[in-house]
Amino acid sequence: MEGDNAFEESNGSMPELEGRVAGVSVVSRPELSEALSESRGTDEKSSPAETGNGTSPVILIADDDAMVRMLAASSLGKSGFKVIAAENGRDALEAFQRYRPDLVLCDVIMPSIDGYDVCRLIRKEPQTGHIPILMLTGLEDNESINRAFAAGATDFATKPINWGLLAHRVRYALRASRAMRELKLSEQRYALAAEGANDGLWDWDIDNDQIYFSPRWKSMLGFKDGEIGTSPGEWFNRLHPDDKASVSAAVSAHTEGRRDMFETEYRIRTQTGEYQWMVARGLAVRDENGMGCRMVGSQTNITKRKEAEYQLRFEALHDGLTKLPNRALFLDRLNHSIQLAKRNASYLFAVIFIDLDRFKVINDSLGHLHGDRLLIEVALRIKSALRDGDTLARLGGDEFTILCEGITDINSVTRLIDRIMNVLGDPIDLQGQQVVTAASMGIAFSSSGYDNPEDILRDADAAMYRAKAVGGSSYVLFDEAMHRQAMEFLTLESELRVAVEKQQFRVYFQPILDLRNDQVSGFEALLRWNHPTRGVLLPEAFLSVAEESRLIVNLGRWVLKEACRQLVCWQQSWPQARGWFMSVNIGPVELAAPGLVEFIAETIESTTIDPTCLKLEITENSLIANGPAALKTMKKIKSLGVKLSIDDFGTGYSSFNYLHRFPFDALKIDASFISNFDQDAGRQEIVRTISYLAHNLGLSVVAEGSETEGDFRRLKKLSCEFAQGFSISRPGDAEQMEAFLVSKLTPSEASAS
Ligand code: C2E
Ligand code: MG
Ligand code: MG
Repeated sequence: MEGDNAFEESNGSMPELEGRVAGVSVVSRPELSEALSESRGTDEKSSPAETGNGTSPVILIADDDAMVRMLAASSLGKSGFKVIAAENGRDALEAFQRYRPDLVLCDVIMPSIDGYDVCRLIRKEPQTGHIPILMLTGLEDNESINRAFAAGATDFATKPINWGLLAHRVRYALRASRAMRELKLSEQRYALAAEGANDGLWDWDIDNDQIYFSPRWKSMLGFKDGEIGTSPGEWFNRLHPDDKASVSAAVSAHTEGRRDMFETEYRIRTQTGEYQWMVARGLAVRDENGMGCRMVGSQTNITKRKEAEYQLRFEALHDGLTKLPNRALFLDRLNHSIQLAKRNASYLFAVIFIDLDRFKVINDSLGHLHGDRLLIEVALRIKSALRDGDTLARLGGDEFTILCEGITDINSVTRLIDRIMNVLGDPIDLQGQQVVTAASMGIAFSSSGYDNPEDILRDADAAMYRAKAVGGSSYVLFDEAMHRQAMEFLTLESELRVAVEKQQFRVYFQPILDLRNDQVSGFEALLRWNHPTRGVLLPEAFLSVAEESRLIVNLGRWVLKEACRQLVCWQQSWPQARGWFMSVNIGPVELAAPGLVEFIAETIESTTIDPTCLKLEITENSLIANGPAALKTMKKIKSLGVKLSIDDFGTGYSSFNYLHRFPFDALKIDASFISNFDQDAGRQEIVRTISYLAHNLGLSVVAEGSETEGDFRRLKKLSCEFAQGFSISRPGDAEQMEAFLVSKLTPSEASAS
C-alpha cells in the first residue's frame, strides 16, 4: 500500500477501497459514511465526536512513519472515526483537497512538504481555515511547538503518542473547533444584523476602562476606524453637555443593578462638529458582587425620529399661523411662573391679555387671507416690543397673551403696553390697503396669589373686556372688584347649569292691552328662575351670564315653545283669545345662534300656533351686534308669517334707520320714557314723536312700563295703540294670568268661557 503517491483510507482495519486513482484512495463522502456505518459498533462505548451534521468525523493523518499511521488508524478507527492516511506532505495536501477531513493530525518532519508548510497551506484557504490541525512533534521542544503555532496549528501531541488518549484529544479538538465556528458564525450574524440595522456596536471593559467601538459606531460619528481609540472618553467627552448627566445616570443605574437594561438617548458631537441624536442600549456582565464589569451594546442614530418628534411637539404647542406658543404652552409657562411665585414671594409676574379692536370688521371686509397677514404682522410687532424672557402667545382668533416674568413693578408692564400701542399704531400695509389697528388690553398681576393658570388668564381677559367696553385702544388693570364679579359670574354660571337640569325655570306672562278698547290683545312671555334659596329671580339677575355661557340658546328656545303652547291653550279655551298674540324675546346670542329659523318653524308646526299670532321682540342692540346676518335671519323669520317687534326702542341708537332696513311690524317704546311720565311733558313729547314716526313707517306702537294709573290715562291720550305695565298687570304665571283674565271679563263672557 505504500508508495510515492499513496495514502490509505481506513476505519480501523484499513480495508482497500475501490476507485483508487494513481495510488490515492478515491472515496466520496457518502461512501465514507457508508463505510463508517459498517464499521460502527466496533467500540460502542467510545462513539466518535459528532461532526455536527450526523456523519462520522474524517481524520487525516499525515506521517511518514507507517507505524504511526497504522496505530493512529487503528486507535481512531476503533473510536468510530474515519481515517485517511498520507505518508508525506504533498499526499496529505492532495488528500485534504479531496476528502475535506474534519481534523488533521500532521507530523512535523516529512518528505516533500514538511508539516509546517502543510499547516500553512491549509490555513491559507478561507473555507478550511478553521479545520483543527494537531501537530505531532518529537519530544516537547519549544522551538518546534512555537513554529507549529506560528504556522497555524491548533494544538500539538508529543511523540511517543499516547494512543489510548489520542481519540479523546481529537474529540476535544473537534468539539472546540465546532464551538469556535459557531461562535464565529454567531458573531458574524450579529455583526451583519447590526450592520443591516445600521447600528454601531460597543464593548466596554469597565474594570479596565477600555471600550471597543465597531467601525460602524465610528462611522456613525463621521470617523474612520483608526480615528477613534478605545478610551471611554471617545464616547462620553463627545456628549452634549445637557445629556452627560442622564447618560451617566443610566450607566450607573444598570451597572449597579437598579435597572434591568441600559438604555439612554443623547446627542453626540460628530466629526463635523454638529450633534446627532443616538440611542444606546446595552447589557452588563456582572461580577460576583452583582456589579457590571463589562457592558456590551449598540448605538442607533435616532436623529430623524427626534426631528419628527420635535416637529409634532412644536405643532402641538404652537399656533400654526404665527408660530407663536399656543394656549397649551402658554398655560404651561404660566403654571411654571405660578409655582415659582409660590416659592419666592419677591418673584412677580403679569399676564397681559390683548384683543385687537375691529379685527372682525377687517377680516370680513378684506377677506381671511388679509386677516391672516394682519395677525402675522401684529404678532411680529408685539414681539419686537417685548423684553427678553417675555412670552407672547396666540390663544386663537385675534387674541394674544403675554407673560411678563420677573417684573419689579407695575410701571415696567405699563411701559411695555405703551410700546405695544406704539408699534400697533403704525398703519399696516395689506397689499396696498393701509390698515390701522389698535388693541384692548387687560392686565392681571401675580400679587393676587393665583393657584391656577386658567384663573389669572380669565382675570386678564375680564380686564380686557373692560378696556373694550370703554371703547378699545386702552388697557385696564384687573382689580379686586372685578375679581369679585368674576367669582360671582362663575358661581352663577354653575348654578344656572344645575337649574337647567333641574328645570327651575318658569315662563311668566304680562298682558298687553289694546288702548282703543281696553281689551287684552296679547302677552309678553318673560323668563323667571325659581331659585331654590333666593326665590323667583328676574332676568337681570342671570341673563348676562346665561348669554355669555350661551345657556340662553336652549333656555330661550324652551321659553318660545312654552309661550306658543300656552297661547294655543288659551285660544282653545277662550273664544275672544283667537286674535291674541304672544310676544317672545330673542336676545343677540339667540339671534346669532344657528338653527333659529328652523326651530321656530318646527315650533309653529308642533304647537299648531298661528304664526301671525307669534311676535318676536328684538332689541336694537341685537341688530348692532349681528349686522347683516341678523337681517337675513329676520327676513327668513318673516317669511314664516311671524311678526317682529323692535324692543326697548329709544335706549340704543334710536335710529330710524333700523326701522327702515329691518322688516319690523311693531315698535315698543322703552319703559324709561313711559314710567311715571304723567307729569313730564318732555317725555310725553318724545313718546308722541316716536309714535308719529312709527305710524308713518307702518308700525304699530306698544308703550312699555305703564306703571301708574296716571301713565295709563296719559297713554290713552297719546296715539299709542298698545300698553303694557304694572298699571294693567304685573307679570305672572299662567294661572295668575287666567285669574286676571277672568277678572277682566264681563259676567256673560266669564260664563261663556
Ligand atoms: P323687556 O323685553 O323690555 O321686558 C319688559 C320688562 O319690563 C320686563 O322685565 C317686565 O317685567 C318689565 N315691566 C313690565 N311692566 C313694567 C312697569 O310698569 N314698570 C317697570 N319698571 N317694569 C315693567 P323682566 O321680566 O325683568 O325682563 C327684563 C328683560 O329681560 C326683558 O325686557 C327682556 O329683554 C329680557 N327677557 C325676559 N325674558 C326673556 C326671555 O325669555 N328671553 C330673552 N332673551 N330675554 C328675556
Ligand atoms: Mg321684550
Ligand atoms: Mg322692552
